[in-house]
Amino acid sequence: MSAEIHDVTIIGTGPAGLGAAYELIEARPSLKILMVDKGRICSGGLRNDCKQNYTYPIGFAEDYWRKNQAEEILDKVENHLRPEILPANHLETYQRRAARIDVNIFAVRQAHVGTDQSKKLIHRLLARLEELGVVIRLGTEVADLRETDGDAAVVIDGEEIRARKLIVAPGRKGFSFLQGIMKKLAISYVDNIVDVGVRLETRQERYPIVADYYDPKIYFPDNVRTFCTNSGHALVILEKYQDFYLINGHALSKRQTGNHLVNLALLKTIHLKDPVRSGQQMAVYLGRLANEIGGGQPLMQRVGDFRMGKRSNEKTFNRDLYDFPPTCPVTAGDLGLAVPARIMRHLWTAMKKLDTIVPGILHPSTIMYYPEIKMYANKPVFLDDYFRVSRHLYMIGDGAGTSRGITGAWASGIRAARGVIRAI
Ligand SMILES: Cc1cc2nc3c(=O)[nH]c(=O)nc-3n(C[C@H](O)[C@H](O)[C@H](O)COP(=O)(O)OP(=O)(O)OC[C@H]3O[C@@H](n4cnc5c(N)ncnc54)[C@H](O)[C@@H]3O)c2cc1C
Repeated sequence: MSAEIHDVTIIGTGPAGLGAAYELIEARPSLKILMVDKGRICSGGLRNDCKQNYTYPIGFAEDYWRKNQAEEILDKVENHLRPEILPANHLETYQRRAARIDVNIFAVRQAHVGTDQSKKLIHRLLARLEELGVVIRLGTEVADLRETDGDAAVVIDGEEIRARKLIVAPGRKGFSFLQGIMKKLAISYVDNIVDVGVRLETRQERYPIVADYYDPKIYFPDNVRTFCTNSGHALVILEKYQDFYLINGHALSKRQTGNHLVNLALLKTIHLKDPVRSGQQMAVYLGRLANEIGGGQPLMQRVGDFRMGKRSNEKTFNRDLYDFPPTCPVTAGDLGLAVPARIMRHLWTAMKKLDTIVPGILHPSTIMYYPEIKMYANKPVFLDDYFRVSRHLYMIGDGAGTSRGITGAWASGIRAARGVIRAI
């Protein structure tokens, strides 16, 4: 065990961890703070794409946030991230069209950095923290935690490093790490929500709303919504989760010439009721099934084939009728075999409504990729308003279900830091 004791150790240098570190060191410059990340650069949305939403409740878990509380903190987030807010045009026209068919378009202040530029932002944020005296250890995995009445510790390479308080912010990929810790320390948690959906890819001219509103937040009946729209130079990507792949998307900055494609997710939120086992477990079953049918990778199907009730195949992906190649060529197949019927029905109804608001998205060439699944729900039972879960531990960010995006994650970090400052 190392004799050294930090005031605070933060696991994760994603936006949640960064938000906590800045709040702590700015409020108490003498604090000894250690930040640890297993990556060489943080792995979440700050690195990938980096769209920032500055309007509550986008990116916030509403169970834990009141509007005025989030808005006060969002101003602070903005001061650190220094976003260039994008213009939004003709919103009222789209909103009027949407309202007629029971759909809501939410106006959001947004900024977009792009995957090719995000590293610069991250390096600036980390360099400033180091100037302020925060010790940052990248490429260092925390294998375990322990807690006693007096303090807590992280275990790194078999060595215990003690701290008076620990802030745990390991992101979505840290779900199993968090679950392991919660089981070990007997921290109760619920895991009953999961988002399941498809990612659509089409030509930008068939979804022109993106020229007016970069990442339109559109809410349909049956808990379906648009999520993470990318355009300009937009790419669909694979995300490895356990032993299978999920779909995701991102875009490069506006400095790039662009492939003139757009991609967006349509997600249905599922609240599991009794007798619930686990939202994550459901996600794993659905993800594995899709990858099984896809021969070890996700599925893609053209809207034209889906409408005709037939599977897509290699021919459907020629450049004749179907005039753009997929940016993420996975297995051409039949989504109907993999997506549960009720989920598919609600997604398809939403797609028809979307095509009424922005005519073009249902062009036969549009590609539907599956599975895009978001597992948010590893929610610990918090002991106070600062996301404290035990005597010395705070859990925040997407992994702990306090946020669903960069700005909400950063704001969660600020809240936990305020709790820590009160406590020490
Ligand atoms: C491809 C992709 C694109 C996205 N695009 C956007 C977007 O444009 N806008 C948006 O708002 N949101 C986006 N998101 C969501 C966004 O990533 C999250 O909302 C946000 O990053 C959550 O912040 P966080 O700090 O909780 O976790 P993360 O940003 O995931 O950071 C957690 C960090 O903890 C580290 N870590 C995990 N376990 C350990 C351990 N045991 N030891 C040490 N370190 C550990 C990880 O390496 C990681 O760097 C995207 C997500 C993905 C995957």
